[in-house]
Order: sequence, then structure tokens, then C-alpha cells
Amino acid sequence: MRQKTKLIHGGISEDPQTGAVSVPIYQVSTYKQESVGVHKGYEYSRTGNPTRHALEELIKDLEGGKAGFAFGSGMAAVTAVMMLFNHGDHVVLTDDVYGGTYRVITKVLNRIGIDATFVDTSDVAAIEAAIQPNTKALYIETPTNPLLKITDLEEASAVAKKHNLLTIVDNTFSTPYWQNPIDFGADIVLHSATKYLGGHSDVVAGLVVVNSEQQAEDVHFIQNSTGGILGPQDSWLLIRGIKTLGIRMEEHEENAAKLVNFLIQHPQVTKVHYPGLESHPNHDIAKKNARGFGGMISFDVGSSEKADELLRKVKYFTLAESLGAVESLISVPAKMTHASIPADRRQELGITDGLVRISVGLEDIQDLIEDLENALS
Ligand SMILES: *Cc1c(COP(=O)(O)O)cnc(C)c1O
Repeated sequence: MRQKTKLIHGGISEDPQTGAVSVPIYQVSTYKQESVGVHKGYEYSRTGNPTRHALEELIKDLEGGKAGFAFGSGMAAVTAVMMLFNHGDHVVLTDDVYGGTYRVITKVLNRIGIDATFVDTSDVAAIEAAIQPNTKALYIETPTNPLLKITDLEEASAVAKKHNLLTIVDNTFSTPYWQNPIDFGADIVLHSATKYLGGHSDVVAGLVVVNSEQQAEDVHFIQNSTGGILGPQDSWLLIRGIKTLGIRMEEHEENAAKLVNFLIQHPQVTKVHYPGLESHPNHDIAKKNARGFGGMISFDVGSSEKADELLRKVKYFTLAESLGAVESLISVPAKMTHASIPADRRQELGITDGLVRISVGLEDIQDLIEDLENALS
């Protein structure tokens, strides 16, 4: 089954009991047992729910793994995966990981003794140099936010394997439609499904896919023990969103390419970051990792004042955090998503005050270009 077909027919795409072509919302907490311990596969909805199960089977199929798990948010998914580790363990992570991931690692998980080092994982030698005797995992985000840096999934996973580390990939930006980290040797893939998978700015959710029976057992144990599950209504919304992921990603891609083409020629724009640009430092690796470059673009307008003015003037780009929705969104990372990072560290990473991030939506591209044209002039 090819990816677009899988989006629609993967997992459990209908209700076997009634023939309903959309999986029903099983709004239920507990299930009747015939006798003690004898049941139809469900006992209590924290442990398992048929609507959530359909979603978990779907994401498992889309990522090509052994089991899928749905959580109440992307951060709940990240946290559940990190619960695989113990006090005294160490993890190497991409240096510009999602801010919430940085926060949970450095302000919460550090308190229970999980240690971390953040490195530029686009440099495989830097990964290897950061590995310690107690390192248990390599955690990669690619492309990253907001500079769209790319890590070679195949090489990075190979280094991890050599040192007996688990490779964990946050695949939120590319989605399984474009990128399947398990094909390159990753062990665990996770998503903020709030973004492209949901796609309509109406659900907060997280997904995890593992590629071994042992990890399936372990993550299910953590999911059931800590309880950060996704409810049936939101599971259903996510299944609904995922059905159109293919056509949405194709269109995001087309709009992004046209917008990038406009931006690189604009005199007010000093720099454009997009993995699809041949001038992107890791363009070739982006092509190797994924079948598409995605709908996220960042560009520099030179100063905080100019960025503010741009954001005030745009009509169709909604000033908001988040990404991956049908609506085009615009933000200034230095003041919004990355404000918690100290200014000198931001400079070091290249997140300047004039950097603007766009999540290209599905509006008519001509309207989007005209909108930016007006705002930039
Ligand atoms: C948004 C996001 C998260 C966190 O997901 P939530 O659903 O907001 O909890 C994690 N990783 C990436 C790359 C994200 O964009």
C-alpha cells in the first residue's frame, strides 16, 4: 500500500461491527467482562480504547513500526518516551530541539536524574564526541525549528547503533507522508500531532511509534502507568485529519516553494532558510531523508523593528505560535517560541531578532505572495 492509500485505508479504517466507514467515537471508560478477566480486548479506557486504538494502528502503519501510542499532547509523548530511561542515564539531543522539549529535559527530567547534552546533530562527529559511558539515546529533530537544520538520519542512526543507543526522532515537521525515520534505522518516532497530522488547529495530541516488541511493551506500560492518553473525541478528530495529510502536504510544499522563490528575490529579505533551496547547507541530506521539504520557512528581515512591522501588516498570515495547519501562521521566534532561550545563546544558534518564521498554509498562493509583498514594502 502506498502512503496516500495508507492514510485512508491504514490501521483500522472502519467499524467491523456495523460496517460504518468512519471509526465510531467510543465515548466510554469501562467495558463489561463476561467473567473475571474475560473480555473483548478492552477493560478500561486508560489501558485501551477502540477509537484511540484505531489511531494508534494508523500511525504505526504510516511510520512502518511495530506499535503506535496516542497521548494528550506532543509533550506528553516526549515525556513518556523519556520515561524509558532511568536515574543516571544520559541522552544526546539536537541543540535546537523544540523549546518544550528543551524545557522538560532541562527543568523536569534533570530533577529525576536524567542527564542531557545538546549538540549540533547535523555534525555526526559532534554526536559521537558527546557520547558518554552512561548515554542511552540519541534524540534528533530534523528539520529543526526555526532554522530548518537537517540531520542525516541514516548516518546518525548508524552512530547511535554503534554505541548501543536508541535513536529517537521527532518527525513533527516532515510528517510520515514525507519522512520515515524507521527506514533509516531509527527505533522510536514521535510527533506533535497538533501540527500537520491534525492539520486544522483544532486538536492537541502526541503520537509515538516504536519498532520492537520490547519497546511496544515498555511504552504501553508507561502510557498505562502515567496515564497521559488521548481521549476518544480527539483520537477521532486526528484520524479524520490524517486522511487528507497527503493532499495537504503536497499543497503546503507547492505553496512553500513559490513563497521561497518570492522571498529570495526580495530586497528586504537578507536570508531565507528552507531545506528545498539548493543553497541550504544540507540540501542533499534533506533530499536523502525525505520525499518533500515541508511547509516551514524562516527568513531574516534584518531587525526586530522590521519584523514587528511585517507582522502588523500581514492580513492572511495569522500571528500565532504552532504550525502545520490549513491557515498560514507567522511568528518571530526570538520573541515568541524561543524567548526562553537566553539572548546570547539565541545569537549563537542564529535565531536573530529579525528572523521571521512562516508555516505556509493552504490559501491561494497569489494572495499569500501579495500579502507579504505589501507588508514587506
Ligand atoms: C509543537 C511541538 C512539540 C510539542 O507538541 P504539543 O502538541 O504542543 O505538546 C514537540 N515537537 C515539535 C517539533 C513541535 O513542533
